[in-house]
Amino acid sequence: MATDEERLEEVYQSVVSRNPGEVEFHQAVREVLDSLGPVIAKRPELAEQRVIERICEPERQIIFGVPWQDDRGEVHINRGFRVQFNSALGPYKGGLRFHPSVYLGTIKFLGFEQTFKNALTGLPIGGGKGGADFNPRDRSDAEIMRFCQSFMLELSRDLGEYRDVPAGDIGVGQREIGYLFGMYKRISKQYESGVLTGKGPGWGGSHARREATGYGSVFFMREMLRTRGESLEGKTCVVSGSGNVAIYTIEKLEQLGARVVACSDSDGFIYDAGGIDLHLLKEIKEDARLRISTYTERKTQARYVDHGNAWDVPCDLAFPSATQNELNGRDARTLVKNGCIAVSEGANMPCTPDAVKVFQDAGVSFGLGKAANAGGVAVSALEMQQNASRDSWTFAHTERRLEQIMQDIHRLCWETAETYGTPGNYVRGANMASFIRVSEAMLSLGLT
Ligand code: GLU
Repeated sequence: MATDEERLEEVYQSVVSRNPGEVEFHQAVREVLDSLGPVIAKRPELAEQRVIERICEPERQIIFGVPWQDDRGEVHINRGFRVQFNSALGPYKGGLRFHPSVYLGTIKFLGFEQTFKNALTGLPIGGGKGGADFNPRDRSDAEIMRFCQSFMLELSRDLGEYRDVPAGDIGVGQREIGYLFGMYKRISKQYESGVLTGKGPGWGGSHARREATGYGSVFFMREMLRTRGESLEGKTCVVSGSGNVAIYTIEKLEQLGARVVACSDSDGFIYDAGGIDLHLLKEIKEDARLRISTYTERKTQARYVDHGNAWDVPCDLAFPSATQNELNGRDARTLVKNGCIAVSEGANMPCTPDAVKVFQDAGVSFGLGKAANAGGVAVSALEMQQNASRDSWTFAHTERRLEQIMQDIHRLCWETAETYGTPGNYVRGANMASFIRVSEAMLSLGLT
């Protein structure tokens, strides 16, 4: 009879051969399957009914063409996706990514991650993800609107408050959610607030949703530091990226007494020894939608390093908050050499498997994305809750709920890792705890 490890390896090999070329999806599945051995050994009933195989197969995959016209009247065609991955715990829930690199493998990896992440929040949401290979860079507001409208015209048939609830991700923020929601409202002839999250607080959105992923990642880091008898106070930090996640990671770090000396975009990074000027960063990124290189025009003592690597900057704490596989083994070794003691992933799967191994071998506290960045989707679920009850909570109340949820996720990962014999290993803890939640629900619901 095959051992548990051999069975998990077989599942992995079949995922690879059934999903050729989808390397990020393979990577995400590998990480989860590599974590499950101790659970299967202790609770073999969770592997019955081919639950592990079923968890790796999306329930539904939707691919559609998105035709649109640019400002000069030229016609473009993009490819849109929605992968409804798993609905054992609730309606499909997860963001939309607009980026030229998007293909089915990207959305599948993100949908797979989302299923486990959402389970960790303890809230009633299944996992899904969507997007398009559309490049929003340098597009006018009108072009963005037309693209969103065309995208929603098709996707609307598969959405619904109890069915599938998208939100933002890379390239999709409040502006895009507005255009998408406007079109959905027109098609459905209903003000169905709960069909999208990340809406503006003035039109059905939740306070603190914009801040949630970044704030949550910092709250998770604070919990990891507590286990080491440390705090955020006075720590030097590097945050990669300069989008929504990065900006609100920086904001919370500054509020809690840490100093962020670098952040980046896909062209390079800025180094500001005195601490990033958040007001200026928001002006550049949120108001003007410019590149971060413009930061040094206003703050001349800061340095912009074109095509530089932000992980070369010495820091105590690292917050990879840009995109998948942005931090490799070499970067991890540099961070360890420079004295970094903890990493909290604001993005989805930003550290390569090599990098994760380097951190864990060096005793660095490593908070993986599906735990550390779950604050965003958690507040999305709170937004759904507010929409369902036609209520609107205050910022302070919503932030308190977020803080509590992040503490609970940390404790769950910590305790699960300990119970199954891998203390301090958040990767194992998160994957095992979320697998237990999803597989128990799947078994309860029968073969559906
Ligand atoms: N895209 C975010 C994530 O990766 C948020 C998803 C949501 O709010 O539904 O978790």
